[in-house]
Amino acid sequence: MNGAQHVVIAIDGPAASGKSSTAQWVAQQLAFRHVDSGALYRAATAAQLRRGTGEESWTEEEVCEAARKVRLVPRGTSFTPLIDGQSVDEELRGLEVTKHVSRVASMPRVRDWVNDRVREAARDHDVVVDGRDMGTAVFPDATLKVFLVADPWERARRRLVQQLGRSPTDEEIAEETGRLVQRDARDATQTVQAKDAILIDTTYLTQEEQVERIVALVKAVTQRDSTTSAVDDDSGPG
Ligand code: C5P
Repeated sequence: MNGAQHVVIAIDGPAASGKSSTAQWVAQQLAFRHVDSGALYRAATAAQLRRGTGEESWTEEEVCEAARKVRLVPRGTSFTPLIDGQSVDEELRGLEVTKHVSRVASMPRVRDWVNDRVREAARDHDVVVDGRDMGTAVFPDATLKVFLVADPWERARRRLVQQLGRSPTDEEIAEETGRLVQRDARDATQTVQAKDAILIDTTYLTQEEQVERIVALVKAVTQRDSTTSAVDDDSGPG
């Protein structure tokens, strides 16, 4: 259990492994809040892109200053980043942000800024957090850690189905697989599987099956923790 005594479920994994949608669904099932750390890296990148300066000249200071325009606000059972008070969902998923986000995410002060925002959002609630390093750098004492992986071709196929709303061709999947593998390489240093994370390979699972597994794991762990604390209470001096 983390210091605040709230339940924290950390879901990490590479790009397009289905972390965010799975995390959101798990949070809904358990009446927890969902915090997507990737959305904060994307928001910092979008805020910096809005300044219109050439990417080669971006400094960590500049990006941190741009990130001050970002606020993470509750929305339903999730949190969403706003830039200058405006909703920016579409912009965050766009190609430009995706192209530059790994570079922004490699800046240590930006990582500190994101981690502080995520911890702040998690302070008063039971949460499902998702990203690359939630179970290591941000919540090393998380109640449950899950690391989601899937075959790159399948990850690319799922991403395209979501983006295009139809079955992609093999050529389209091949191209997207190339992009994903490149992003995996750029993100490699910040994508860390905790030693005590449970690895789930989702290549042959439906999203419903992934969610069911994680919800079952959460229930098992929280039940075990409550039984352990009841035993601890009983064994104290009477
Ligand atoms: O999860 P998503 O693909 O939206 O994340 C966008 C980018 O943010 C990743 O490619 C990665 O560079 C960065 N990221 C990170 N650490 C996290 C979450 C995301 O470095 N915990």
